[in-house]
Amino acid sequence: MNILVINCGSSSLKYQLINSASEAVLAKGLCERIGIEGSQITYQPAGGEKEVTVSPMPTHTQAIQMVLDALTNDKTGVIKSLDEVGAVGHRIVHGGEAFTASTLITEEAVKAIEECSDLAPLHNPANLIGIRACQELMPNTPMVGVFDTAFHQTMPEKAYLYGLPYEYYEKYKVRRYGFHGTSHSYVSKRTAEVLGRPYDSLKTVVCHLGNGSSISAVLNGKSVDTSMGLTPLEGLVMGTRSGDVDPGALQFIMHKENMDIDQMLNVLNKKSGVYGMSGVSSDFRDVENAANDGNKKAEVALESFAYRVYVGAYAAAMSGVDAIAFTAGVGENDKITRKKVCEYLGFLGIEIDDEANSKRGQEIVISTPDSKVSVLVIPTNEELAIARETLALVK
Ligand code: ADP
Repeated sequence: MNILVINCGSSSLKYQLINSASEAVLAKGLCERIGIEGSQITYQPAGGEKEVTVSPMPTHTQAIQMVLDALTNDKTGVIKSLDEVGAVGHRIVHGGEAFTASTLITEEAVKAIEECSDLAPLHNPANLIGIRACQELMPNTPMVGVFDTAFHQTMPEKAYLYGLPYEYYEKYKVRRYGFHGTSHSYVSKRTAEVLGRPYDSLKTVVCHLGNGSSISAVLNGKSVDTSMGLTPLEGLVMGTRSGDVDPGALQFIMHKENMDIDQMLNVLNKKSGVYGMSGVSSDFRDVENAANDGNKKAEVALESFAYRVYVGAYAAAMSGVDAIAFTAGVGENDKITRKKVCEYLGFLGIEIDDEANSKRGQEIVISTPDSKVSVLVIPTNEELAIARETLALVK
């Protein structure tokens, strides 16, 4: 069966068509600037050239129509008709407490996703627009929603409750939810497979380090703690997001700079992190180049980023750790950051093999055979994970 995986944002839409039997990507691409002037679609069939077509896409329905046209195009299409799309898998950002696993999209599920929009006002409405557009264009194709938060629903209360009055949890469900769940689940499972160890008796810390970064403790196949919270702003220092900050510091800055809460949150989301600390860029390659050229702020931003990847705390949450897995843009590509993070973990008996650590783009164990904890790089594949979840529910 071919599965169309859709990741719908407010003005963009990423897609992949995946064959579930071979798990090969038949085609992939991106629609950008939906609803804005200058919209365009990028389409790339497997083994073929990337094509960019500029075309008006006033709504997501037009964008998805263009994706379907590209997939079935006479010349560069990879399928003859839409009958060859067996199911659609949608990435959904927030499932609140309603979704502990992926779900078949029914009217009831759509309603429950709508109810979670309060918790992710920028993301869930966009995800729902993607669902509605697909329903319009492919009314008979089954669809599945795969949630960023679902994998972390196994966290115990002590890990997900904030030190706030309990009534805010009772009234508004204010708690830690965690994100990147599809990635944490995929990477922790692959870690067990690569090590040849049973997933249900392994203690893994997953470090998803990208533009957005989060860490999780996966105990016997279940997430027991993670660094992101009610929103993806909490936790580690990120590309442009601050991660944890004393809320008192925010009040102090807001008074000094005469900012309201929305302006402050904009700074925390878009102007902070490695970008704000270095004043250079959110891209680690640029920040590393600047640090190599002697830029002290860039140097300390990178040090701070690595220092704050609190593997020790997540190991403690499981009373130990068997494996640490690095993934996402920085985790997969940046040997310097991996090395820096691991340097803090010598007390766990971790030793890194520098030659293995310099490889890129592959699943690899980067610890030495004597290391007490296995350290791995596992490239994440959220689209494949969504396709697998989708297949499991529509089969
Ligand atoms: P997102 O959270 O947007 O999905 P990604 O996981 O794609 O982010 O990570 C993107 C980031 O990965 C880039 O901003 C960059 O900092 C980092 N990155 C990509 N390639 C390299 C590299 N070769 N060396 C260091 N950092 C890299």
